Amino acid sequence: MPELPEVETVRSGLAPVMEGQVIARAEVNRPDLRWPFPARMAERLTGQRVERLRRRSKYILVDLSGGETLLIHLGMSGRMTVSGDPMGRFVRDHPPAQKHDHVVLNMQNGARIIFNDPRRFGMMDLMATKTADQHKLLAVLGPEPLGNDFHEDHLINAFKGRKTAVKTALLDQRLVAGLGNIYVCEVLFRTKISPILKAGEIAPKRVTALVPVIRQVLKEAIAAGGSSLRDFRQADGELGYFQHSFDVYGREGAQCNGPGCDGEVQRIIQGGRSTFYCLQCQR
Ligand SMILES: [Zn+2]
Repeated sequence: MPELPEVETVRSGLAPVMEGQVIARAEVNRPDLRWPFPARMAERLTGQRVERLRRRSKYILVDLSGGETLLIHLGMSGRMTVSGDPMGRFVRDHPPAQKHDHVVLNMQNGARIIFNDPRRFGMMDLMATKTADQHKLLAVLGPEPLGNDFHEDHLINAFKGRKTAVKTALLDQRLVAGLGNIYVCEVLFRTKISPILKAGEIAPKRVTALVPVIRQVLKEAIAAGGSSLRDFRQADGELGYFQHSFDVYGREGAQCNGPGCDGEVQRIIQGGRSTFYCLQCQR
């Protein structure tokens, strides 16, 4: 499942082929994904110039010249592919149509953007750009972890009195938007905080320490995604997935990377999700 850094990599990969360019023809090949597509979506997209691509949490927002914004979420298995890129960053030839190519944007500059989603947990919607923040999926989100509204006091207040585990609290999108399972595990490892501690019982000093580490972990992953984009010429044009090494995520039973630690990475289940951590390093 794509997390914030993967979504940011998709956004920054799409931006140079879409921004300032006109959607010559949009194809919408089915009525719905997770939810029905908005009415007449293909007509409303066709002929629009893309003004800007933005990201909010794990959503991509495509601002269009006519005053509407296309909201995109990749869901569990949604993939964006670019072909025919006039800038030569991606493969030039358009691939043959695939099963699950649900939305295809043919740009006037020759680029083709394909949204393929076998499991159809993704979503797209259209809304007025002016009131985009009030869309029901965006209005409930907490501050962006890389933005100015996410800071030490915010997190201390958000944790106050919380009886849920810190791992679960950090996954709560109302508290901070866009943090997912992988990066929460990594953040807790780096701050040596046990994922099972109750959020409200962690000393303020340790809560404060989470903020710069959350930013750092996300920035490192976004940088890794950025370098994957620069190396895309020979690839299949699919955006957003890149090799990235983790300290604990997916490393159950492996030697802990903590300096001087001889422990093994453990896996437990919290709120139905796997948590990876080191019992010795994280208290
Ligand atoms: Zn350890």
